[in-house]
Amino acid sequence: MKLANLSELSKDKQQEFLNSFDTVLTDCDGVLWLENQLITGADQVINFLKSLGKRIFYVTNNSTKTREQLIVKLKKLGFNAEPHEIVGTAYLAAQYLKKHLGSKKKVYIVGSSGIADELNLVGIENFGVGSDVLPSGMDYKNDYDQIKLDPLVGAVVVGYDSHISYPKITKAACYLTDPNVLFVATNTDESFPMGPNLTIPGTGAMVAAVKTGAQREPVIIGKPSKLMGSYLIENHNLDPKRTLMIGDRGNTDIRLGYNNGFQTLLVLTGDTTLANATAWSKSDDEEYKSRVADYYLPSLGHMLPLFGS
Ligand code: PLP
Ligand code: CA
Repeated sequence: MKLANLSELSKDKQQEFLNSFDTVLTDCDGVLWLENQLITGADQVINFLKSLGKRIFYVTNNSTKTREQLIVKLKKLGFNAEPHEIVGTAYLAAQYLKKHLGSKKKVYIVGSSGIADELNLVGIENFGVGSDVLPSGMDYKNDYDQIKLDPLVGAVVVGYDSHISYPKITKAACYLTDPNVLFVATNTDESFPMGPNLTIPGTGAMVAAVKTGAQREPVIIGKPSKLMGSYLIENHNLDPKRTLMIGDRGNTDIRLGYNNGFQTLLVLTGDTTLANATAWSKSDDEEYKSRVADYYLPSLGHMLPLFGS
């Protein structure tokens, strides 16, 4: 049965659940923290699971931070994380390009400094981070001869970019007219609901602008992509059946688990509500069904009392 309330299972079933996995993949924002605020008890649960010998991996679609910056944040909030445990999309995008980008080629970034820093760490020259606006009076439809392109660009990476602008989308689309230029998107999260009447467009909105303008499909790095699934399974030697994915978002975290045969736990401290998940569970549509977790809890902290810690 899908979407079982973990708190309401019998003690035996709860213990069976705890014994059924030896690797935990946890989403970050919405499960461990909300922006800069620890979600109560999340640190204790992760430390408890670690004390039982379970392996933990922090799997985030957030491309604005390097692995190093994610470790700093995790440690500040009470998680004793190590570099090999961090699976972030800026880091993975850099690993992907290290493998696939031709030598001496550069990367044009529509994104944040996290991507640039990770590319620098693997020795890939890059540019594009920061604002790029049309000088007043200029209009690319008339002044397209002013668009300056670097012939050494071999890839475009699109991640979260709070400075996204028409010149950036234009330059990305121009580079991508060459089919040999790789097109990489860190993730496609649509938006972040921040409160009543407050929605912040996510990376998916930015990827949509570039891919529509370029008429090309990107390679997607983040959850729930195939690439993320195979990276986790192969690089960390996971046994999917004994792996638990914890997330707050049906169409990224839970779907990653579904697609790869992981067990899944939804927590209700982020994006997906129980009403959403219940409605999806009644659908015959495979895409909706893939968003429905095996278990749910109001928050990760609610796991602690179940196991007497
Ligand atoms: N992308 C950006 C830019 C973010 O700021 C966040 C959350 O802070 C995410 C994606 C989602 O991150 P996660 O996968 O950890 O929920
Ligand atoms: Ca999340």
